Amino acid sequence: MIQLYIPLNFLGVLYREIKQSLTDIEKMFRLLDREREVADAPGAQPLQVSGGAVRFEDVHFAYEPARPILHGVSFEIPAGKKVAVVGPSGSGKSTLARLLYRFYDVQQGAIRIDGQEIRQVTQSSLRRSIGIVPQDTVLFNDTVAYNIGYGRTGASQVEIEAAARAAHIHDFIAATPAGYETRVGERGLKLSGGEKQRVAIARTLLKNPPILIFDEATSALDSNNERAIQAELEAVGQDKTVLVIAHRLSTVTDAHEILVMDAGRIVERGRHDELLAQGGRYAEMWRLQSQ
Ligand code: ATP
Repeated sequence: MIQLYIPLNFLGVLYREIKQSLTDIEKMFRLLDREREVADAPGAQPLQVSGGAVRFEDVHFAYEPARPILHGVSFEIPAGKKVAVVGPSGSGKSTLARLLYRFYDVQQGAIRIDGQEIRQVTQSSLRRSIGIVPQDTVLFNDTVAYNIGYGRTGASQVEIEAAARAAHIHDFIAATPAGYETRVGERGLKLSGGEKQRVAIARTLLKNPPILIFDEATSALDSNNERAIQAELEAVGQDKTVLVIAHRLSTVTDAHEILVMDAGRIVERGRHDELLAQGGRYAEMWRLQSQ
C-alpha cells in the first residue's frame, strides 16, 4: 500500500509541476504569438516622447476578419491627462489598451503618440514608454525582488525597495522570512489580489513611463484595500498620460474625458457631470452603481 501510495503521490507532485511549467510555457507562447502579430516597419525609428499625447483616429479592428470588434473609434488623451473607458463586458475596452501597446495592429485608422504613428516606431521604444497595471498581474516563479525589478532591467536593490515602499508593499515583504528573496508565484508565497496589484504598481513606478494604462480589477477587493490602491494609482498617474479601463465609476469622476463604449463604438463621451446631465447610458450606470 505504502509502495503504491508513494509513486502516486510523487506522480501528483510531478503532474502539478508539469502543469505549472506548461502554464508558464503557454504564457510565453501566447506572448511570442502576439509578438509575431506585429513587426517593426523597415527603418522604424525610436518613439520620441515629448508630452505623451495619445490619439486614436477612426480605429477599426477585428481579431478575426469575420467578427469586427471596433468600428471607428476616435479620441485623444492630451499629454498628462486621464481618459477613462467604461461600458459593458465585451464592448472593446481592453482591446483599446492592447492596440495602444501594439499587441495587434489596427486594420483601419491610426494610433499616434505625440504625432508619431505607433506602427512606424520600434516596438521596444513604444513599450518602454507605456506602463500597464493589469487586472491580473502575472507573477513569475521567482523572488519578490525579481518580480518588482522586472519593471526596469538593472534596477538596484535600493531602487526596488523604494518602489515597494511607494506602493505600500514594503512592510509586507519585510515581514516575510526571506524578505525580498522570498519566492512568489505558484510554487512560492501566494499573494492576494491587492498585494499582486501593489507589486504591479511597484514595477510601474520603477519603469516610470510617460504613458500609463490601468486596467481596473473586476474582482472585488475589500473597500479599504480598494481605496488605498486607488490612491496609489492616482499618485502613480500624477502628471502622466493615463488610459483607465474602469469598472467602478467612482474612480473616473475626475477624468478629463469619459468614453462610454458599447459593441465597439463610443456611444457617449464627456466629463462626469456632463454625462450625468445628459441622462443617458452613463447616468443610468451611475444610478445603478450608487445603489
Ligand atoms: P471586459 O469588461 O469583460 O474586460 P472588454 O470591454 O474589455 O470586456 P474586450 O476584452 O476588449 O472587452 O473584448 C471585446 C470583444 O473582443 C469581445 O467580444 C471578446 O470576445 C473579443 N476578443 C477579445 N480578445 C480576443 C481574442 N484574442 N481573439 C478573439 N476575440 C477576442
